[in-house]
Amino acid sequence: MTLLIHNATVITPAAGELQTLFGHSLAIDGQWVTGLAPAGQVVPDQYDEVIAGDRFIVIPGLVNTHHHLYQTLTRCLPAAQNLLLFDWLRVLYERWREVDYRSVNLAAKVAIAELLRHGCTTTSDHFYMLPPGRDARMEAVLDAAEELGIRIHLCRGSMSLGASGGGLPPDDCVEADADVLADSVRVIDAYHDDSAGAMRRIDLAPCSPFNVTPELMRDTRDLARARGVRLHTHLAETVEEERYCLEKYGRRPVGYLADLDWLGPDVYLAHCVYLNDDEIALLAKTGTSVSHNPTSNLRLGSGIAPGERLLDAGVTVGLGVDGASSNDGGNPLAAAKMALLSARVRWRFDAADPAGARGLMAASTALRLATSGGAACLGRTELGHLQPGAAADFALFHIDDVALAGAAIQDPVAALVLCDSPPATHVYCNGRRVVENGRLKDVDEEALGAALNECVAARFAW
Ligand SMILES: [Zn+2]
Repeated sequence: MTLLIHNATVITPAAGELQTLFGHSLAIDGQWVTGLAPAGQVVPDQYDEVIAGDRFIVIPGLVNTHHHLYQTLTRCLPAAQNLLLFDWLRVLYERWREVDYRSVNLAAKVAIAELLRHGCTTTSDHFYMLPPGRDARMEAVLDAAEELGIRIHLCRGSMSLGASGGGLPPDDCVEADADVLADSVRVIDAYHDDSAGAMRRIDLAPCSPFNVTPELMRDTRDLARARGVRLHTHLAETVEEERYCLEKYGRRPVGYLADLDWLGPDVYLAHCVYLNDDEIALLAKTGTSVSHNPTSNLRLGSGIAPGERLLDAGVTVGLGVDGASSNDGGNPLAAAKMALLSARVRWRFDAADPAGARGLMAASTALRLATSGGAACLGRTELGHLQPGAAADFALFHIDDVALAGAAIQDPVAALVLCDSPPATHVYCNGRRVVENGRLKDVDEEALGAALNECVAARFAW
């Protein structure tokens, strides 16, 4: 099956820059992009299906590098709305210990539906809430991703350091190290697909320094490197975490990870708000990637990550919306806007750039974070761009949408980032249309939302 998006405005990263190609046609064959050329050089009759692109901006499917899909069960929870990270977690652990297959599966489907509607075709999901004895397992998320048709990096998360050992979570919410490792092996064996264009990969992801033992960090590192899967964790998110690491390990968060040999091109770290110049240089030198989650960092009052200084140093940076309990929305373009706005504020206060040599973050930089930057974090050269050989993941935004009208004529990239981005009109993932006219194509969105509302009202709204 071949498809041509004919005579559209195509935006794609190419050789480190973001290109805006007016009057171009995008050719698809099955699951792959096979051509990108000026419309006049293309013969539409040669394609099975042709979509007139003259009113559309086409972008690569957005790549979200950090999420906790299950947290859709507790978004906007009143008791946790106005708390800093540690207190926020303490309140939420009490709710999250109720998770099971059905509630996680429903939450994941709602969160994935929201991502897809906003043009996100690949998401990482860091799922670490697996209280022993409860029927919450990795399949709850994998099944949701497969049903809705999104590409996923499912991070087999873990917590093994409970309150009695000096960790943050209650003891009954953490797993034994051996159980974590055994289940990690199980899900890699059963689900990890390392082929190009894979819809499903497994990453390994101990949660954070304050709820995982150093022993599990080391064993997870060894397992991931033996099996060739990526490593992910939260790091340097708050001042409180920095203090915790200094008191417990005698090291700042990045130093703690370095001691554990937990930096490298196979590692992507969520947050990295509190970094000094030496730590930024170390991330660059080791090829460690960063998932920047500006909305969550602002929502929790954590701080503003040094996104532009990381980029200047040569660190790979992607964007994350973060879990639904600390963002409450799953729109990567909104995260790109937040990255841009927060970078502009941070720049004004940045002692490292007192002369203002850097200037203000551009919309094209923010959109690169949400596309090629995210793909690089996940080690996916076939994602995040629309050059021939890319996976057929892309989103079409209508330039006449009232949210974009006027702006899209001026500058399509800035329109997508600076305006309040609307849902995409059509979204394709792996060559399949998953969103049509702004709605999930094969999913009853209201029925799905109603099922989640019922579940939350019965079990998570107290
Ligand atoms: Zn997170």
